[in-house]
Amino acid sequence: MLNAPRMKPPKPDHRQEIEAIYAELERRPLPRQCEMRTGCCHFRLAGHTPMLTRGEALYAAQGVRASGRKALKPHPDGACPLLGREGRCTIYKNRPFGCRTHFCAEAGGMYPRKHVADLIQRLEALDERLGGSGSRPLEAAVSDALADI
Ligand code: SF4
Repeated sequence: MLNAPRMKPPKPDHRQEIEAIYAELERRPLPRQCEMRTGCCHFRLAGHTPMLTRGEALYAAQGVRASGRKALKPHPDGACPLLGREGRCTIYKNRPFGCRTHFCAEAGGMYPRKHVADLIQRLEALDERLGGSGSRPLEAAVSDALADI
């Protein structure tokens, strides 16, 4: 008797859950005033690089693709490769969770973890479902995601 071909399990849909998490974050009543100074996008100056789970990376990669690019180019100043020449985020709608919560001091400071811990847990759970390996630095995470979409 022939075995029926094994069906691959369907890939979980990251987009719906990521958009739900970002929408929930928007509803949190934490006063912040981002004036797009982009200080947080200059990793060397800010002293940190956003870390992305797999779902965030795939969602950011879709933003990159939508802007017509197929790969990331290093920024000449060592800033985020998604920071445009005119000093604006080129994937603002698709920017990762860290870019939505790590506000500079002038904008009100970083979100306290206790206010977003449940959302971080959802991102981690999605990462696991997508076969991710936990949070990874933005450039590597988005580059790998671009190769997969
Ligand atoms: S993804 Fe956009 S908001 Fe986030 S660090 Fe890069 S340029 Fe800045």
